[in-house]
Amino acid sequence: MKNIVILGSTGSIGTSSLSCIAGLGADYRVIGLTANNNVDLFLKQIHAFKPRFAALMNPQAYEQVKDQMPKGTRLLPPEMESFTFLASLPSADLVINGLVGAVGFMPLISAIKAGKTIALANKEPMVMAGKTIMEECQRWEAAIIPVDSEPSAIFQCLTDADETTYNKMQDRISRVFLTASGGPFAKRKAALSTVTPQEALKHPRWKMGKKITIDSATLMNKGFEAIEIMNLFNLPEEKVQIVIHPQSIIHSAVEYVDGSILAQMGAPDMRLPIQYAITYPERKPSPAQKLNLFEVAKLEFMEPDFERFPCLSLAFEAYRLGGIYPAVLSAVDEVAVDSFLKEEIKFTDIPKLIYTVLKNTHSGGGKVNLNQAAEADAMAREAALVSLQSKSYRKAII
Ligand code: MG
Repeated sequence: MKNIVILGSTGSIGTSSLSCIAGLGADYRVIGLTANNNVDLFLKQIHAFKPRFAALMNPQAYEQVKDQMPKGTRLLPPEMESFTFLASLPSADLVINGLVGAVGFMPLISAIKAGKTIALANKEPMVMAGKTIMEECQRWEAAIIPVDSEPSAIFQCLTDADETTYNKMQDRISRVFLTASGGPFAKRKAALSTVTPQEALKHPRWKMGKKITIDSATLMNKGFEAIEIMNLFNLPEEKVQIVIHPQSIIHSAVEYVDGSILAQMGAPDMRLPIQYAITYPERKPSPAQKLNLFEVAKLEFMEPDFERFPCLSLAFEAYRLGGIYPAVLSAVDEVAVDSFLKEEIKFTDIPKLIYTVLKNTHSGGGKVNLNQAAEADAMAREAALVSLQSKSYRKAII
């Protein structure tokens, strides 16, 4: 029996997780669900899965649902403590973190300190302070199972990974191929400055939440994933090769020192890596579509264009600088994507805003502790808003 808590149950990862769990039978039980403000969907989920605990972050949403809980479900107050409490629930065997952005940071730390196994889709904390997070995992004997398709693919190709440390296999790996679909603009000839949110939200392969879809269009998502896998699997930068692979059939691959490459393939369906994180180390029948190799017929691989997609260069630059820079990168990206979705800035202003705040950040390199990362996140958001207001980001030349 696996008791499961889902953080972010109404989002893309949360709803797919529940659809997998519904098909897995009585051995998988949902004991906690949290969401932000999607009241209708949340109530449906609560009544379908009847968890012991529920929490909503938004106070108005909490007021709306507080008298509608089924018998046996306790609704916790709309505050971060409820999320961190559920992330560390003693009876939880697995905590699925499907939160978006830095809001997932504190619950993740709480789960780690409780020695939990965490199915992690929320990549921002791993960007902000991934090395420290992995040290904390070792200290508290917590484990991180990646949920995102590419880190999951790498995880599946690591033949003797220890998910608490990931430290045993580095000598045998010569390269990791981190694949990227390239997003909706990989083949676009026209300038990217006129891209609208509607166009950027049309991902050619994957159905995902809004933030990650925009990050995929700028390729920042791949930059984040590169940082995530370097931190998670303790890989040096020179062993990470980003590969544009428009078909999204190979979800990433690991090359061993003897030249043998193990790749994980499958239909581009998030339920596949999500369910694997839920059932690991077992494999179970899944609702994900099966791949038809004859329909796929052809696989293409190209080098990424760092000039046309400067977010990718910014991500590597922030990683190399270390210190609080990756936290700043992640925080400003959140502000920039939000601003682009509200049509306040252009698509090409996203990297300009990030560059502007990174350039004005002064910090030593090396490792950050968790408080420093959280402070840098708050500081960078403030700086991003100031730059948006003064429009100073427009002067950035990148
Ligand atoms: Mg991904």
